[in-house]
Amino acid sequence: MRILVLEDEPQLARHVTRALERHGHEATACHDGAEGCKVALEYAPDLIVLDLNLPNLDGLSVLARLKESRLPARVIILTARGDVEHRVKGLKAGADDYLAKPFSMEELIARIEALGRRGGSPSPSESLRVADLQVDIQSRRVARSGQTLALSPREFDVLLVLAREPGRVFSRTELCERVWQRDYEYDTRTVEILIARLRKKVDAGFASALIHTIRSVGYTLRPGDAPVREDKSHDTEAV
Ligand code: CA
Repeated sequence: MRILVLEDEPQLARHVTRALERHGHEATACHDGAEGCKVALEYAPDLIVLDLNLPNLDGLSVLARLKESRLPARVIILTARGDVEHRVKGLKAGADDYLAKPFSMEELIARIEALGRRGGSPSPSESLRVADLQVDIQSRRVARSGQTLALSPREFDVLLVLAREPGRVFSRTELCERVWQRDYEYDTRTVEILIARLRKKVDAGFASALIHTIRSVGYTLRPGDAPVREDKSHDTEAV
């Protein structure tokens, strides 16, 4: 894997990059948050080891910027021991794992390799398929039965969350968190509207519906025999 280490303590950063290289990875380090964002976009790492306390731009802001840039790298954050608040914020902001300082190098390497095994970043050609629906992650193109669907960026984001785990039911709050990926005044009504619009684009006119409302729980995307209803009631259906 290509790994970027964003850590402002030069000795620790060197220690980590050397350990990674010993384990057969390619690693580079950067000691500054703002600089780190630039380096991340140029270096295009598979994974970033991100210290939260960085000069010029703190780790959480770095994370937010990288997510905005849609950099498909996995992120493991380093936090001070017991710093629960930042750890939670980091995970909510899209980090994949965290490690409290001081940590053992073995544990860091083990967690990095576990993240790599989980599939890592999407490859340029990665696409998801649920029945006759195809979601192309890199190009953000969606097609059903070979027919391209025109989705807004937010509609695509909601659909992608659902399509990554077909059959799993997501609550509205969970969808909000996945799509906006940061502290946000959750407006679950927005999700309802996006789902209603997705239904019109993804399901209307096709023989079977893929987006399902699970009453009192949330939404799921899965192949099913439920016919698409022509009435508008499901657009405002209570969840
Ligand atoms: Ca630091």
